[in-house]
Amino acid sequence: MRGEVAVIGGGIAGVLSARLLAQLGYEVTLFEKSGRLGGCAGSFSRGKFPFNIAATTIGGLFPGFPVERIFQLLCLCPQERVNLTVSVPTFWIKANEEEAYLTPFEEDLLTVLINFCRMKPKPAKKLLKDIKFSLSGLFHDPYFHLNGAKSKLKTLLYLTPLILNHGIYYRKSALPYLKEITQNDIHPLTLKLFNALSLITAQAPLEEVSVFTLHLALGYSLTGVGTVKEGNEALFSYLADGFDFFLNTPVEEIGFSEKEKVFILKVGKERLLFERVVCAIPVLENYNIFSDELIRKYLRTYEKLVSPFSAITLYGVIKNYEPKASHCLLLTAETLDGHTSGNYLVSLLPVNLEGETTYSFTLSTHTPIEFWRRYLNDKESYRTKKEELSKGLKKLLLSELSLEESQLEIFDLATPITFNYYLNRMSLGGIPVTLSNSIWKVPGNLSPRTGLYLLSDQTLFYQGWIGISLGLLNLYRWWEDAGF
Ligand SMILES: Cc1cc2nc3c(=O)[nH]c(=O)nc-3n(C[C@H](O)[C@H](O)[C@H](O)COP(=O)(O)OP(=O)(O)OC[C@H]3O[C@@H](n4cnc5c(N)ncnc54)[C@H](O)[C@@H]3O)c2cc1C
Repeated sequence: MRGEVAVIGGGIAGVLSARLLAQLGYEVTLFEKSGRLGGCAGSFSRGKFPFNIAATTIGGLFPGFPVERIFQLLCLCPQERVNLTVSVPTFWIKANEEEAYLTPFEEDLLTVLINFCRMKPKPAKKLLKDIKFSLSGLFHDPYFHLNGAKSKLKTLLYLTPLILNHGIYYRKSALPYLKEITQNDIHPLTLKLFNALSLITAQAPLEEVSVFTLHLALGYSLTGVGTVKEGNEALFSYLADGFDFFLNTPVEEIGFSEKEKVFILKVGKERLLFERVVCAIPVLENYNIFSDELIRKYLRTYEKLVSPFSAITLYGVIKNYEPKASHCLLLTAETLDGHTSGNYLVSLLPVNLEGETTYSFTLSTHTPIEFWRRYLNDKESYRTKKEELSKGLKKLLLSELSLEESQLEIFDLATPITFNYYLNRMSLGGIPVTLSNSIWKVPGNLSPRTGLYLLSDQTLFYQGWIGISLGLLNLYRWWEDAGF
């Protein structure tokens, strides 16, 4: 054994980093506040029905993409142990009477650009070529360690090929680029779809993102997007092997002893000492957990980067239904009084019931956080708002998916207040990847204290499986070079 490490938080970031450190020979203990692993990407069951909590898709599974590289690094093949398969088609997109399919195949993306987005073949082909080019940027491990002259220089050298190749797309704004390649001929459906995909991938609307981000958003299905049929919890149980983890065990405070150079974790009545800690919680919303003013001050400077969006998620069951894809993206004008973006992602999991085609679903949509703070101390209005939204979303589902009332059963609705209660976060995505958030403006995975590493969707770029895998590859590269 090479020493003891604490990992705080059992979401994607915590579980993947704990597994990697255990594989590297460290004795790892993971502390998770809630009653299950997975965080926003976990799942729960109600009777025989599994429900993914928020993240329903696992992108980057094709060779060379970040999640596949992480699984390789961990010598894992989850596909052999859980029903993780790349979804074909990946997304069924519906906007009123119009529909389209995104799949892992380039030809289908081209068809969507031409038929659904009404792009002329020449600009559509140019866009597809550019998307593939930008996606190849994900084959590159990041190395963003901008503290210290030596590390700055190394980062620069390491990133030079990437900057030379893709730099122009990092700095250029997506909308003028689209106007340029289409010669100002942009159909409203293009804007609607691109805006929805940009919000889902980068937590930012189309007008704020760079060309690179737009490309990644449009090319997401080409990275190999999978679903775990039995719900994501099965995947987390598989990943959580080789290290100790404690559920329902929140870390209440993280201190640092200058004299002994150890971190002091307050867990219940105990104070536990660790030389190294991976903090895998949404740190920008939880920096008060640090009693060490150096870290607090450091993280506070990034607080403004927290995404202004959260999510509303509706859970339920659809009976006697033949879905067109595992994920339906509904582009509508219904924002439920401004509480939602008008875009709804309905992700389905099959439930084996005799003779019936039954699916449990998670419907998710963006919601501005500012709408919800008022309900933190007003339980009565909150309950009324929840009921109102639940009814509104049910009505929307019935009409959008052409369902009979008897086919649809609603189980529950989660709001930013729910997520705050269970997962210590209201913002439910990573740092918005906008033109103004460049690499030196995000916290990154190192911290001002040697031995304290930061890994969550609030530290590097992009969120979810792909973003966190990039962050972990970043840390791995640092550990290889500088030691743990
Ligand atoms: C509606 C929605 C849909 C999404 N869809 C996708 C998708 O399809 N694909 C995708 O890749 N990404 C998706 N994302 C993004 C993705 O869910 C997140 O980026 C990712 O799950 C974040 O993982 P994390 O480990 O950084 O943080 P979290 O998931 O927040 O995990 C942190 C964990 O730390 C625990 N914790 C917090 N405080 C403490 C403490 N003091 N002590 C101990 N434990 C603590 C929490 O309980 C939690 O389990 C989606 C997000 C949302 C909101």
